[in-house]
Amino acid sequence: MKKHILVVPGDGIGAEVTAVGKQVLEVIAQKFGHEFTYDEALIGHVAIEATGSPLPEETLTKMKSADAVLFGAVGHPKYDNDPSAKVRPEQGLLQMRKELGLYANLRPIKLFDELLEASSIKPEILRGADILFFRELTGDVYFGKRERLEEGNTAYDTMIYSKYEVERIVRKAFEAARTRSKRLCSVDKANVLESSRLWREVVQAIAPEYPDVTVEHQFIDAAAMLLIKDPKRFDVVVTGNLFGDILTDEASQIAGSMGMLASASVGDSTGVYEPIHGSAHDITGKGVANPLASVLSVALLLEISFGLKAEAEAVISAVDAVLKGGYRTRDIADADTPADKVLGTNQMGEQVLAQLA
Ligand code: NAD
Repeated sequence: MKKHILVVPGDGIGAEVTAVGKQVLEVIAQKFGHEFTYDEALIGHVAIEATGSPLPEETLTKMKSADAVLFGAVGHPKYDNDPSAKVRPEQGLLQMRKELGLYANLRPIKLFDELLEASSIKPEILRGADILFFRELTGDVYFGKRERLEEGNTAYDTMIYSKYEVERIVRKAFEAARTRSKRLCSVDKANVLESSRLWREVVQAIAPEYPDVTVEHQFIDAAAMLLIKDPKRFDVVVTGNLFGDILTDEASQIAGSMGMLASASVGDSTGVYEPIHGSAHDITGKGVANPLASVLSVALLLEISFGLKAEAEAVISAVDAVLKGGYRTRDIADADTPADKVLGTNQMGEQVLAQLA
């Protein structure tokens, strides 16, 4: 298979982990006889520094013509501590999602058995948890009207959803539920928010088209509690942009670390595959970032954008084998991990590549 992949490392540890992800793609191409070509582009702080824009036109054009995008992260402390900055790295991310119509963000939360002890949740609660989140990505408060009033002393953001925006992501979630345990949980705040009442109405209207799928509704506050109390009760979860943002970070604790969670953003155009973590400037340049979220993002890219299921499974099995071998990056190591098994970013990458080869 011939495919063209755009690598967009972005900021901070984005560059460190994406380099490992790309190496995994190269080995997969070699092993399975595919021809992958690559290009690189800027986004975020590095793009602002080079061009003045967080999403240069050139990057967007390259994204639109690629078969898939392997993405790192954006963000820089310079902007985090300056709320008045007019140009910000995250604008690049939001604009990319809007321009590419990436309305569905898929976040599989699956705990590798070897990491049961790395989570702050009790192993007996966690064992067997396997959740697929569908987070809506191009609506909600992130894109609604916002304003400062009264000389800056009052501010508002608008939580806004249109019926078609809810329909398209909910359908994707129903389709996925069909291929899994046929259970779908929709998360909203319909007891308070009008946009959530619309959300729930749409889910209820679509449900009869999928009679084989059992649907439940949870309020976001209850869902946040249940996710920690009994993660196994969830299978496919669909929710809006803001609730999904918070819930999936919470769910990262089920997988042991932010450094283990991959995501796929899909919609109208090229799919974008990225770890759920940010640019992590506290560890940038130290060579300790966990690259496995980027590696697992490659598995999603292979399966979802290219339909290469066996290749995706090979990547996941390689990660599993490395963890079974006792190797850990710092974020997933514990007191019992022998010092010689605590690896840096590149060494962890080398272990995965060795397993693949
Ligand atoms: P973060 O995800 O970057 O880091 C949170 C914590 O998790 C940090 O302690 C970090 O060291 C750790 N961590 C994250 N990824 C890790 C990895 N692969 N290996 C080991 N440890 C890891 O979130 P933050 O600190 O809230 O934000 C930092 C910057 O990233 C901000 O500028 C923020 O806006 C941005 N951000 C970007 C994205 C994105 O690009 N999609 C997502 C979230 C945050």
